[in-house]
Amino acid sequence: MMVRRRTILAVDDTVANLDILIDLLKDYDVIEATGGVEALEIVAEEKIDLILLDIMMPGMDGYAVCRKLKEIEKSKDIPIIFITAKSDEDAIEKAYDTGGVDYVTKPFKPKELLARVKIQLEHQEMIEKLEFMASHDPMTGIYNRRKFFELASRKFNESSENLYAAMMDIDKFKKINDTYGHPAGDRVIKAVTGVIGENIDDGSIFGRLGGEEFAVVCRHPDQECVVESLELIREKVEQLELKSESGELIRCTISEGVAKVDETINNLDELLQRADEMLYKAKGSGRNKAVFRIR
Ligand SMILES: [Mg+2]
Repeated sequence: MMVRRRTILAVDDTVANLDILIDLLKDYDVIEATGGVEALEIVAEEKIDLILLDIMMPGMDGYAVCRKLKEIEKSKDIPIIFITAKSDEDAIEKAYDTGGVDYVTKPFKPKELLARVKIQLEHQEMIEKLEFMASHDPMTGIYNRRKFFELASRKFNESSENLYAAMMDIDKFKKINDTYGHPAGDRVIKAVTGVIGENIDDGSIFGRLGGEEFAVVCRHPDQECVVESLELIREKVEQLELKSESGELIRCTISEGVAKVDETINNLDELLQRADEMLYKAKGSGRNKAVFRIR
């Protein structure tokens, strides 16, 4: 996970105030908006990490903007710091009640504002890190079981049209571990992950379900393409040339079970179950093969 440059949206109807903020926040990418509607449009289009929000603005005021942002999935977690000339207790209380994380009164002290901005961005970075750790497999960096099911279910529920599930399993993986040791086994898992990752479409959901078991859920209009890419993955894994600690050549193969959604399949679990049945067939009929259930 890379640390990226953070983008701050500054919203104020007074342009002179925006100029001050832009000057102050020169270490960040700053986007300005002079009104609430404009601010909402920008948030819808850009990836915003933090919002500095004026309260008193004509038309939609800062509270209304904040409330709106908190209702929208994409923006509900963006921290909002209110910056305003209002300093009565009720205004401050309302700012927190509507969902603001912090409150700075104008005229603000530049160093104080910077420190508050920094701390919110640090919190956010930490949350992102924790979320990444909670949703990715530490060894391979791909989705873990929990996240795979979450995203794959979402994909199924969006539309099951042309949807496929592939279950993949490294053949006789225990034997690889027993013969060459666990570090070699780990290398095999990483290499197989790499091959699968390089040969699936960008929109595919790819996760490690457990030990040596992987799953992919993807949508594709061309059935032949799906079949070919899964065959290609199987072939490329077969061609991998990995070395054990002591320099021995390790060969590995995978078996694949693939199912496409049809009228008998009502949810993701059923789709994966069909794919798993095909995987079982592939294993039972000699391994290193892909078995498709496509009508
Ligand atoms: Mg104002």
